[in-house]
Amino acid sequence: MTKFHIAGEFSDSKSGEVTEIRNPATGEVVDTVPKGTEEDARRAVDSAHEAFEEWSQTPPTTRGSFLYQGAQKVREAEGELSILLTQEQGKPKKEAILELRRFASTLEYYAGLGVSIRGSYIPLHDHNRYGMIIKRPIGVCGAIVPWNFPVSLMGNKIAPALVAGNTVVVKPASTTPLTSIRCIEILNKTGLPKGVLNIVTGPGAIVGEELLRNPKVRKIGFTGETETGKHVMSVAAQEIKRVTLELGGSDPLIVCEDADLDGAVKAAAVGRFFNCGQACLAIKRLYLFEKIADPFIEKLIERVKRLKIGNGLEEGTIIGPLHTQKQREEVESQVEDAQKSGAKVLTGGKRPTGSEFDKGFFYLPTLLSDVPDSGKIVQEECFGPALPIFRVKNLEEAIEKANSSIYGLGSSIWTQDFSKAHYAAERIEAGYTWINSIQTIYDELPFGGLKHSGLGKEHGIEALEHYLETKSIVIAT
Ligand code: NAD
Repeated sequence: MTKFHIAGEFSDSKSGEVTEIRNPATGEVVDTVPKGTEEDARRAVDSAHEAFEEWSQTPPTTRGSFLYQGAQKVREAEGELSILLTQEQGKPKKEAILELRRFASTLEYYAGLGVSIRGSYIPLHDHNRYGMIIKRPIGVCGAIVPWNFPVSLMGNKIAPALVAGNTVVVKPASTTPLTSIRCIEILNKTGLPKGVLNIVTGPGAIVGEELLRNPKVRKIGFTGETETGKHVMSVAAQEIKRVTLELGGSDPLIVCEDADLDGAVKAAAVGRFFNCGQACLAIKRLYLFEKIADPFIEKLIERVKRLKIGNGLEEGTIIGPLHTQKQREEVESQVEDAQKSGAKVLTGGKRPTGSEFDKGFFYLPTLLSDVPDSGKIVQEECFGPALPIFRVKNLEEAIEKANSSIYGLGSSIWTQDFSKAHYAAERIEAGYTWINSIQTIYDELPFGGLKHSGLGKEHGIEALEHYLETKSIVIAT
């Protein structure tokens, strides 16, 4: 059993109950974790609360040095950690390694940014007074994380929170706690003071809920579904807690008639099928200009048919299983709904056959055409390997369709004409627009959605601001 961490110690749950963590590719039990209770969550919050005063007075460079050391140790352990991440989450090992490196680089980025926390001196109109603006940490922060990128999304919260002088309680998703616990253990072993960084496993509705309600928790960094995010915001409102919400998405990709087709085909395939399509910023709607639609679709089908599907630990696997049976059924029902309304399956549209797929939640990468705009796969978030393809007459129509979603997380456009790209980037309602680029996330750039995709930013200096309070001081001379 992998125990959770409270006040720098391994800890069991008071409930004595455990949760089995299963491999989505094989159904085998990977390990068990304690099934945490409200009391366990309270113990973690209390330890973070006790550690806060001293940690908040620790110089940012010292705080950052723990993150640097932790990042180094995570890099050293990436072989062992990536196997564990693949086993519990299902993603190909190559992607697990990328995720761990992303986690390490986020720790390093914020470790270095600690020195940039500063206030200012303000002359006032009363001649014998001046003002100062100082930045202070908020207090105990809850980090609530989903299962699709359990480690990197945890890093997006703990790194800015800790370097800003806050203490943290992490609540990982119930199905992916193992690698996160190992990473927290590694970070704690760098000598972080007890209670600064804690992790408690257990159901969202119990452990997560306690973090939302506990008055000692002053900020919630949440990533997950939009519906859960609305709940988080409404409960946090009772204590006027700060929230950062990173929620669902339905990213459009627009390919204009003058685009580099091979580059755009690659971006569509990687953007849709990375992590078996289970990414908030995956390409979920593809808008092709009429003129290039046929050759583009031909190239995309050919590329998608070559994607090797299998257990993420096998060499060469590009597409692993979906994370859970429920997740697969959701995608199946969206594809079925589209087919009932006249959509054509261009490739995929079913589970793969063969004994090696029997015990896992596999689904073939799927391309669909002739999907009505009212289809579930367009209106809802499609969190799996299926992509509806649409034809558009011009840029205005493409932008209008791109903006027709309740979501506004990422977006992409491919064109050789930069003024066209810029025109679109200013009009697409999304927190990010990639122009002629695969969707890569950068620590340096703020990331976060508009509309139902979220509130606040992760990454960049902007995220650090979300973990700091601004305070004014007036000094009479
Ligand atoms: P989810 O909302 O079901 O769960 C997310 C986390 O919230 C889990 O740790 C869960 O245990 C916890 N939780 C559930 N109920 C809770 C409650 N009542 N109180 C407190 N915590 C609670 O989401 P998921 O299925 O794990 O993740 C997939 C979703 O996350 C997708 O919608 C995806 O788009 C979104 N996502 C968004 C981003 C982004 O940056 N915008 C990134 C990744 C994933």
